[in-house]
Amino acid sequence: MASCYTFPMEKLIVASKNKAKIREVTDILQGIFEVVPMADIGIDADIEENGQTFADNALIKARYVFEQTGMAALSDDSGLCVDALDGAPGVYSARYSGDHGNDQANNDLLLHNLAGVKDRAARFVSAVAVCSDKGEWVATGVVEGHILPKEEGNGGFGYDPLFYCEEIGKPFGIATPEEKNAVSHRGRALRNLVTQLKASGLFGKGE
Ligand code: IMP
Repeated sequence: MASCYTFPMEKLIVASKNKAKIREVTDILQGIFEVVPMADIGIDADIEENGQTFADNALIKARYVFEQTGMAALSDDSGLCVDALDGAPGVYSARYSGDHGNDQANNDLLLHNLAGVKDRAARFVSAVAVCSDKGEWVATGVVEGHILPKEEGNGGFGYDPLFYCEEIGKPFGIATPEEKNAVSHRGRALRNLVTQLKASGLFGKGE
């Protein structure tokens, strides 16, 4: 009789407390990795993100969780870069208004700082990292767009209602999760990461 045994999917512990971000990572990696939020294995730390770049911060977060648990850890560090603001809020996206994780205050400040500005070109950038006993990997992804004059829709999280995505021709705030994940910075970074992990031959034995 033919064996119907398949290897269990490998687990990646996600170094984040952001439920919306964890949802997106889980959906994007569906069928490839089993994504486990760090809270599910008892990690509640506010990991200090003191790197200068998205990649630095992604590595800081993934390394922390790997060192605490000995389990393969995944992180995403991401943000919005606005040309007219010299790339701000950038790595400070989550704490732009001074109140970490306050999406409404961040959006309000962004609109305030762009009042009267015509060139509103912007991009979301994501760096994702895996740290494990097999090594460390980093990948990035970008999506281009512009900042709307006011919020549209309430889908996604963070700056999504203010971000008009050129590729799908609508704000991320009214895009479905599938539409967003297909073109988003995070979707692109994670797919690039999976390509690297598979090429390493160290992950994905079950496929
Ligand atoms: P991090 O958790 O330190 O990487 O902070 C990411 C911050 O960047 C979030 O709190 C949001 O403000 C912003 N951000 C990153 N990705 C997205 C996205 O997909 N949509 C909207 N805002 C995002």
